[in-house]
Amino acid sequence: MEPLTLYLAAPRGFCAGVDRAIKIVELALQKWGAPVYVRHEIVHNRYVVDELRAKGAVFVEELDECPDDRPVIFSAHGVPKSVPEAAAARQMIAVDATCPLVTKVHNEAARHSENGLQMVMIGHQGHPEVIGTMGQLPPGEVLLVETVEDVARLNVRDPLKLAYITQTTLSVDDTADIARALQARFPAILAPAHDDICYATTNRQAAVKAIAPRIDALLVIGAPNSSNSKRLVEVGKAAGCAYSQLVQRATDIDWRALSGAKSVGVTAGASAPETLVNEVIDAFRARYQVAVERVETATEDIEFKVPRVLREPIGGGA
Ligand code: SF4
Repeated sequence: MEPLTLYLAAPRGFCAGVDRAIKIVELALQKWGAPVYVRHEIVHNRYVVDELRAKGAVFVEELDECPDDRPVIFSAHGVPKSVPEAAAARQMIAVDATCPLVTKVHNEAARHSENGLQMVMIGHQGHPEVIGTMGQLPPGEVLLVETVEDVARLNVRDPLKLAYITQTTLSVDDTADIARALQARFPAILAPAHDDICYATTNRQAAVKAIAPRIDALLVIGAPNSSNSKRLVEVGKAAGCAYSQLVQRATDIDWRALSGAKSVGVTAGASAPETLVNEVIDAFRARYQVAVERVETATEDIEFKVPRVLREPIGGGA
């Protein structure tokens, strides 16, 4: 067998928000039994969703698809304000699995709005997090920009009363370019006090940048609808690794494209479980004489508590 070095990026895979969201579904199933409804994929990973489905979770896209008498969980990406309001009007048991770092952005938007500011959001149109964050305020209060070019086209109410916020899972470098364009066009615009791009996104991108110069190819384990995973592919390419590919699991690997590679980088998006990383390593071991090198650029010890209702014993709370 040919020798090959696998550079394992660290940190990679599950973040604290994903870990919490999965725990919420599992605890809800323990507390209330199946079925428990989940509005939207709890996190963007088919493997995770299928495992929870097997335990009794039912995934739906809209609240209308849930019966009144079963619990509903809102995904880690967050939801527009109208969704918990509709659940409350129907007297449903609703548990919010929105990542606290997304909620932080929601609160930031609400605070700016109370101070009379209009918001510009840097993010990707149609992503559930963007829909959720924009849906915290009435239509027209949050304007979306996806690119530097979009900034030139913005039509704002008052250039002196503006703030910007961002999606949590963007490319750190691309977002900095868009933020610079916003500041150049609207010098009075308020920036987030602390970066809205979350620690997990930032750390995973930094780890990819650290391994990119040493590798012939990069595999990012993640789902095609996972924003932070797609950004890792882009970061790999921008850092000089031309063959940077998203794979959902080992069966997606294009072995022909990897022929001749002596060193391959492996990372995983924030919603991809470590089982899939091990599956990919095993697939390499079946074909190459593999040496694994772990490249760690940061350590993470963040943990988020689950909502109180799931910390109470069965019979306690709603
Ligand atoms: S990627 Fe960041 S914002 Fe999204 S769930 Fe994980 S920690 Fe929260």
